[in-house]
Amino acid sequence: MTTESTTSTGYRELLSRIASPGETRPITDPATGEEVGRAPVHTAADLDAAVAAARAAQPAWAALSHAERSGYLNRAADAIEANAEALAELLSREQGKPLNGPNARFEVGACSAWLRATASFELEPEVVVDDGETHAEVHYRPLGVVGAIGPWNWPMMISIWQIAPSLRMGNTVVLKPSEYTPLSVLALGDVLNTVLPEGLLHVVSGGRDVGEALSGHAGIDKIMFTGSTATGKAIIRSSADTVKRLTLELGGNDAGIVLEDADPQAIAEGLFWGAFINTGQTCAALKRLYVPDSLYEQVCEALTAVAAQMPMGHGLDENNVLGPLQNRAQFDVVARLVGAAKASGARVLTGGDPDPDAPGHFYPTTLVADIDNDNPLVAEEQFGPALPIIRYTDLDQAVEMANGLDVGLGASVWSSDAARAREVAARLEAGTVWINKHGAVDPRVPFGGAKQSGYGLEFGVAGLKGLGTPQVIAG
Ligand code: NAD
Repeated sequence: MTTESTTSTGYRELLSRIASPGETRPITDPATGEEVGRAPVHTAADLDAAVAAARAAQPAWAALSHAERSGYLNRAADAIEANAEALAELLSREQGKPLNGPNARFEVGACSAWLRATASFELEPEVVVDDGETHAEVHYRPLGVVGAIGPWNWPMMISIWQIAPSLRMGNTVVLKPSEYTPLSVLALGDVLNTVLPEGLLHVVSGGRDVGEALSGHAGIDKIMFTGSTATGKAIIRSSADTVKRLTLELGGNDAGIVLEDADPQAIAEGLFWGAFINTGQTCAALKRLYVPDSLYEQVCEALTAVAAQMPMGHGLDENNVLGPLQNRAQFDVVARLVGAAKASGARVLTGGDPDPDAPGHFYPTTLVADIDNDNPLVAEEQFGPALPIIRYTDLDQAVEMANGLDVGLGASVWSSDAARAREVAARLEAGTVWINKHGAVDPRVPFGGAKQSGYGLEFGVAGLKGLGTPQVIAG
């Protein structure tokens, strides 16, 4: 296992650019426990200063045209591309995700791709009535200052999902990254600020207290939040007094249903990455898989064979495609849930046996078969590399089990018959239902949760509208 497979000069330079003269705290590599760098400890006073600066900068930014603001978004994408390898290395060291596979380099690439896509969308005023007597149209005006609060699993990409549409619509942004992954987001903000006009984007590196203060802040007009359902509910409460607009992308426990006509060999790799992308630490990952009796053993065998080919280890080792859990708390969640599955008599196909003496938060790739639908590994969000595979006998039962939870971010249907898969998809209670894939997001396609997975849409023109205040002009 090596931690020095790249030159490391770029990521060190990024760290030196975000070094703070004030109080700092260590951030450690989840694979080794070694210190990656030190994060500033920002306070409520720092937050107030950031909000004031963002408010001061907002009118001039809003006065630019969409085309001018899109030009800045494209220049921001250029700046990310110029620093891509250094950003990916810092992300890998801090978050734990490997450079290769759908991981750190992929995430940094998605940041520039999302900026460019968001720059390219057209948002014209909508004429809703034009009958000779009345002409009514809907415009989307800037909201003001957007507060963005993010999680630790895809820290850079999710920050860009919040920043890009906010800026495009003429808002300025105060962003609070997760306390687990502040360095990646501070570095990203620093790179963006090399090309953005001064005062538009502020990264405040604080804990939950700063998130709470941001959600209640009188100088913030909207909160873009991605994280757990419990925190989303807290944000609804703390934002109530100021009636802030909210986009809430919350937790999920996505079901996938394999239909009887699916080809186990053909779908195995897609199922694997649907579940294990980012070592399972993904909001819209496949977290419960429902398989019919007739294909059950074949799907279990095919998935086990794919899992055996996917190396897990330190992120800077170019061979690895799976990494550690980002933090011990999440490792403990996965260990508890797999423990509950084992205690119930479920069959562990692979994994489930972390090495207690190994450094870091590595939990092996785990597949669990013959598990009941009410087992905690099925009913709770594991957010890690452990997939329960539940047997079903008739499709109605599978649909009922898939819809049985109070969350509904994504879902998937796996079949050789696209029309039949679409019929089943229509019965699933989820914001997105993928066919023969899971979790594939696209900057042009709206994304958001059903039920307690949140509300509001991100991406595409729908996402831009969420960062504007609708204004009707009627005459
Ligand atoms: P989390 O809710 O613990 O933390 C997210 C952020 O909220 C952090 O920055 C944290 O400091 C902040 N925060 C905590 N308490 C707060 C409060 N009272 N007020 C304001 N901010 C507060 O989530 P996490 O553990 O970082 O992320 C994992 C969860 O996020 C999982 O449930 C996952 O499914 C979900 N998630 C959802 C999406 C999506 O798009 N729907 C994407 C990624 C992750």
